[in-house]
Amino acid sequence: MTLLFKVDDARAHDWKSLFQTHAPDIEVRLWPDIGDPAQIQFFASWQPPADLHVQFPNLQVVFATSAGVDQFDLSALPEHIEVVRMLDPGIAQGIVEYVCFAVLSLHREIPLYLDQQRQHHWQTRPLIPARQRRVGVMGLGNLGIAALQSLRPFGFDLSGWARSEKHIEGVRCFAGDQQLIPFLNQCDLLICLLPLTADTRGILNAKTFAALPHGARLINLGRGGHLVESDLLDALATGQIEQAILDVLNDEPPSQNHPYWDHPRIWLTPHIGAMTSPDSAFKLLLENIRRHQRGEPMQGAIARDVGY
Ligand code: NDP
Repeated sequence: MTLLFKVDDARAHDWKSLFQTHAPDIEVRLWPDIGDPAQIQFFASWQPPADLHVQFPNLQVVFATSAGVDQFDLSALPEHIEVVRMLDPGIAQGIVEYVCFAVLSLHREIPLYLDQQRQHHWQTRPLIPARQRRVGVMGLGNLGIAALQSLRPFGFDLSGWARSEKHIEGVRCFAGDQQLIPFLNQCDLLICLLPLTADTRGILNAKTFAALPHGARLINLGRGGHLVESDLLDALATGQIEQAILDVLNDEPPSQNHPYWDHPRIWLTPHIGAMTSPDSAFKLLLENIRRHQRGEPMQGAIARDVGY
């Protein structure tokens, strides 16, 4: 049984040594030392080459080393090859930390106070209690739920939106396209934690922003493709959106003359919301390989028809 990793050098060696220690029956190879391509059954990467199934004729499973698989061209892979995303608990922990940082910063007006400091200006705004701050999360999957749970102890008024109906304690849940506008109407602070699919591409657009209460704040932790970048500039210009914190962009890094770099009401971070760590992800990856060996369903398997 052979597993080929195509990941950065530092993590490649960590993965290999974890398998050598805990699962020596699985041979790990590191790209570009692929050996005999016909021996590769499992492939793990952030972004595999397009002709993967041609290069590796006996490939059975592609493991994404990320929580999202939008960077994969699923249509190019034959149906018999399963695609499985990463459910690393370390990713959820990273997202929880980022969400708390971003929500608390926006809730406590930190962007405004940092601006004031630059202008040597000392002025307070009324303190809004957390229970009066309505925080809504788009995407109630692994990460959306972890984000909401982490915000509960602060007492925020929480809601969430997904494709299917959900019941989450302490969270008003909305579902489907029909409930998107009612959901947005009650979000002072909107967090995007959706997967990028044909249905969600461009979902953070002028219509969405118009449905939010005036002066709402936006956090995009999903993918750059969720956001129509020019619509955000327009919404910031009218004050419809007061502040945005963006971890992901269409082009990463953005061009040097991208208007977001110097925008006074946009904070940018270079896609650091969460990163897969071999230490925390290994157990699940190995468990999925064992499940595959036993003919059982793997955790995080992608449903090709919906794309996530
Ligand atoms: P999941 O697949 O567990 O959850 C996805 C959620 O989105 C589900 O609740 C799903 O609804 C909902 N959803 C999907 N399509 C639609 C739609 N058309 N309308 C409404 N809701 C929809 O994903 P994760 O929580 O694990 O990850 C979410 C995304 O976070 C990833 O795909 C990735 O893009 C991003 N991410 C970003 C990182 C960063 O560093 N910034 C790090 C890791 C992930 P339902 O429950 O009904 O199926």
